[in-house]
Amino acid sequence: AGILNFCANNYLGLSSHPEVIRAAVEALEKFGAGLSSVRFICGTQSIHKDLEEKIARFHQREDAILYASCFDANAGIFEALLTPEDAVLSDELNHASIIDGIRLCKANKYRYKHMDMQDLEAKLQDTQKHRLRLVATDGAFSMDGDIAPLREICQLAQKYDALVFIDECHATGFLGPNGRGTDELLGVMDKVTIINSTLGKALGGAAGGYTTGPKPLIDLLRQRSRPYLFSNSLPPAVVGCASKALDLLMESNAIAQSMAAKTQRFRSKMTAAGFTISGKDHPICPVMLGDARLAAVMAEDMLNRGIYVIGFSYPVVPKGKARIRVQISAVHSDEDIDRCVEAFTEVGRKHGALP
Ligand code: PLP
Repeated sequence: AGILNFCANNYLGLSSHPEVIRAAVEALEKFGAGLSSVRFICGTQSIHKDLEEKIARFHQREDAILYASCFDANAGIFEALLTPEDAVLSDELNHASIIDGIRLCKANKYRYKHMDMQDLEAKLQDTQKHRLRLVATDGAFSMDGDIAPLREICQLAQKYDALVFIDECHATGFLGPNGRGTDELLGVMDKVTIINSTLGKALGGAAGGYTTGPKPLIDLLRQRSRPYLFSNSLPPAVVGCASKALDLLMESNAIAQSMAAKTQRFRSKMTAAGFTISGKDHPICPVMLGDARLAAVMAEDMLNRGIYVIGFSYPVVPKGKARIRVQISAVHSDEDIDRCVEAFTEVGRKHGALP
């Protein structure tokens, strides 16, 4: 029956969608393999401007700017935006690229405990002496599949006059009724100031990243953001994929919606089988096992049964919190999900993870 992939970030299955592939081929034929240039020299074609406009429209923001990756978008934003008079408040479990981006800037750095609103409030009080405050958080955290409490974060930001930045790599395209992301899911689209996200996961899975937000901010990034200024323009085929993926999502919310029921099926069947699944309502479903060796041997045995999953252990996750991270995709059928649960149940019993 072949091998089923349960460890890709291909949340919506768009990387193999025929229209996405056709759009890439058309862009390749029309615009060539690449622009051999950064954006501000001769690396800007109509497709780049169109995609930026489409991204901004998708997120209901004023403007957007493309990068070669979301890692670059995160590396480029804090240094361009914040000065030594400012403060950045970052969740301790933020993605490595946010951490690296913050390292590059000269603002005062504060780290608050993971999703701990009391700690964030205390840090916001501490930072009142600074000119500007920016709260930075992943919208959805990729190791645990948990979702940032954006409503509370935005309320605190309003109270203490701070801006909110979210990284939506594990949310864009499928969280919220129309797949707009965590801000749509939690009803705070008008309260989050800046969004960074990737084109390399749900939106076709090729590569690329972006920042979307207020126009003056995007203008500033075009002038000052180093990964934008000094790195090659996105290849046309990659732009074509992402552009078509966004068209499909803006035409109908059916693809985005199809995720939720599948995630629910996997999470409830695995819990009924006796497994502990971390996070809530997110297609990242970490099967918590504790022991690193157990996670590795179980993942290997899952592959023997045709299910491709990977064990995560220290230093990627804390010691004693080893897990197999399962990722559900809209292209998994109910039968695929049931096959995965059955394989987990057999393998879990065999290796003592289940009684
Ligand atoms: N931010 C988060 C939360 C991620 O999970 C990732 C990718 O793993 C990135 C940023 C980087 O995205 P990209 O692959 O587009 O560089």
